[in-house]
Amino acid sequence: MHVAIIGNGVTGVTAALRIRAQQPDWRITLISGESKYHYSRPALMYVFMGHMRYEDTKPFEDSFWEEQRLNLVRGWVTEIDVEGKRLHMHRGTPIAWDKLLIATGSKSNKFGWPGQDLDGVQGLWGMPDLVRLRESVKRARHAVIVGGGLIGIELAEMLHSCGVGVTFLVRESAYWNNILPEVEARMVGRHIEKHGFDLRLETELEAIEDDGSGRCAAVRTKQGARIACEVVGLTAGVSPNIDLLQDSAIPTGRGVLVDACLRSSVPDVFAAGDCAEIVSDGEGRNTIQQVWYTGKAQGEVVGDAIAGEPREYAPGIWFNSAKFLDLEYQTYGRVNMRVERERNLVWEDAPAERALRVVDTPDGVIGFNVMGMRWRHEVAERWIREQRPIEYVLPRLAEANFDPELFRRHETEITRTLEVQLR
Ligand SMILES: Cc1cc2nc3c(=O)[nH]c(=O)nc-3n(C[C@H](O)[C@H](O)[C@H](O)COP(=O)(O)OP(=O)(O)OC[C@H]3O[C@@H](n4cnc5c(N)ncnc54)[C@H](O)[C@@H]3O)c2cc1C
Repeated sequence: MHVAIIGNGVTGVTAALRIRAQQPDWRITLISGESKYHYSRPALMYVFMGHMRYEDTKPFEDSFWEEQRLNLVRGWVTEIDVEGKRLHMHRGTPIAWDKLLIATGSKSNKFGWPGQDLDGVQGLWGMPDLVRLRESVKRARHAVIVGGGLIGIELAEMLHSCGVGVTFLVRESAYWNNILPEVEARMVGRHIEKHGFDLRLETELEAIEDDGSGRCAAVRTKQGARIACEVVGLTAGVSPNIDLLQDSAIPTGRGVLVDACLRSSVPDVFAAGDCAEIVSDGEGRNTIQQVWYTGKAQGEVVGDAIAGEPREYAPGIWFNSAKFLDLEYQTYGRVNMRVERERNLVWEDAPAERALRVVDTPDGVIGFNVMGMRWRHEVAERWIREQRPIEYVLPRLAEANFDPELFRRHETEITRTLEVQLR
């Protein structure tokens, strides 16, 4: 039995190890166009800024793969032949498979803007983007980042570290307010401006101008502005990277369509992680999850399915954590989803560098947003899972806090503010 896995990100690697643990004799091949060895994608910005070496982003020693008898192939797959069970490669001989896992991750969105393929215009997803950016910043004084979100802010920080000025073009009325509630979105916006970035809200990209040699020279906005720049970062979201499947027999929607056990409708073909779209069997929406820990969780489930022990993937309680420059952000459960009969209790400190939001329903708390502080994951998740009433949670907030020193300073005020809102 030979299992081929396209993609050596967290999903592909987790699946490979899971299969190996259950099937010691199977042949397993991990294929990636980007790098021979698995590395931690969220650490990309630290590599660029020189805080980490590429070597330090590899969670496993290079010898580990041989010890696990996992065959590594560096190369781009150009076509999946489902009938003949073969992968055609950009270079080299085709790879035959008995079972196939597609774990090709995400790609940066492009919306057909004029000039979007000029030199100096790029997204931020992988190692090739770092190489391109290093080249571009050599001649750059100013950059424009199109779209907000978490990757946009990382790119801004990377550019800033090279002395490049940054303008953000954000279509919405507050930063990332399709995900963040108004209070948090405005707080992030103020934080961005405080750090010297030029944030332009309700501003949309119209076109990117060519300098006459195929490089970007400026962007024009739909609001009539022209901003000279040598780099344009496209960070208006990501979508499942399914370009490879365009002409294949494997069904796709926004991602590779799979059932709850992460099987496609083609026998022996599976998909997981950022590129997978899990088809809802009820009336709900299909699920696409594009964060690191869901890639890991799906990698475990799909590994079991491939090894012969299928089980359903249960999305669990949503969690994400990140930093907007130096502003910590954690989110748990359902926030900003307009759940029926939800009630939001919000504390924001006077300089507006910390905030706490508790989303409560008659059935218990369903979500938390924590800004400028860090919470204990297990406590927040447990309160949501156990559907604890707000009256239980409020007197115990300190239990969730990761930094008791910091929290003690605000505890009385937070509890009092939220209690007043509860009445
Ligand atoms: C800059 C940045 C910061 C991030 N920070 C965070 C964070 O802080 N927290 C968080 O939860 N998430 C973060 N994410 C998202 C997280 O990294 C992804 O959700 C996660 O990496 C998805 O894992 P994956 O294995 O599904 O896909 P990926 O990690 O994208 O891996 C896809 C793999 O497929 C390979 N591949 C694709 N097409 C082909 C092909 N045709 N042939 C051969 N190989 C192919 C690629 O080479 C790659 O190895 C960040 C992402 C980026 C870009």
